[in-house]
Amino acid sequence: MTEMNLDDSPYFTQLKAEKALFTIPKLEGNQLFYCTQCGNCTQAHFYKHVYSQSINMETGEGSELFEHFYVSQCCLADLAIMDNDTFKDIEIDPIHYLPVKDR
Ligand SMILES: [Zn+2]
Repeated sequence: MTEMNLDDSPYFTQLKAEKALFTIPKLEGNQLFYCTQCGNCTQAHFYKHVYSQSINMETGEGSELFEHFYVSQCCLADLAIMDNDTFKDIEIDPIHYLPVKDR
């Protein structure tokens, strides 16, 4: 994730998230998601992040490597959780940033 080049690749131009949230933490009580980019309350958006595309010159077939993770619906940025009763940030369990197969 550190090798992203925001200027050269059309695939990354929209994405502002720096962390890949692979699973959604369960919201409890009055907790809600907000966007770390604009600060507004938002929904989790399941984003397809294409990090490699190639075309087989012999067959003309394209292939792409991608992963799915959750970002904010408004800005495609990192999600954070706030408790709407206390206005405190709720820490997201780090396990949600681990690819499911690595858990
Ligand atoms: Zn936003």
